[in-house]
Amino acid sequence: MSTMHDAFIEQLKDIYSAETQITKALPKMVEAAHSDELREALQHHLEETRGQIDRLDRIFEELGTPATGKKCKGMEGLLSEGEEGIRSHESGPVGDAVIIANAQRVEHYEIAAYGTVRAWADELELDDAAELLEETLDEEAAADEKLTSIAEGGLLATGVNQEAGGKK
Ligand code: FE
Ligand code: ZN
Ligand code: FE
Repeated sequence: MSTMHDAFIEQLKDIYSAETQITKALPKMVEAAHSDELREALQHHLEETRGQIDRLDRIFEELGTPATGKKCKGMEGLLSEGEEGIRSHESGPVGDAVIIANAQRVEHYEIAAYGTVRAWADELELDDAAELLEETLDEEAAADEKLTSIAEGGLLATGVNQEAGGKK
């Protein structure tokens, strides 16, 4: 019979795979971003993501379990749609709005995943793991909010205005 502890490790492996995939996808998004603010935010989150993988490594080490062995198909799908978005929009405010839309789907997926494992770690009385997962959860939430503020800070309006201008 599988235990809650097994299920916890399975979830963590899925997240590990997701984060690893994200470190490969973010540089492409950084390159495709048109606005400096968006590019810098994505670059910053790439560095944060590397730190999140380090935290997961520490948790796996403590659990005495390898981090690998599972591929997150959910993240694979989200990132593949993200690449599609980059390919089908030229660099500019609209392209940036699409990058943000897809990046926020990734952040929400991560927030859901970390919220669960943080709660499970508490329940399993894995206090160090719970604390590390909480730190990452906070970073994911901040990354999501930053993306919202970039979108609301004029980028959306610029994209819409540009379109209106182009139709004249
Ligand atoms: Fe992450
Ligand atoms: Zn997954
Ligand atoms: Fe993230």
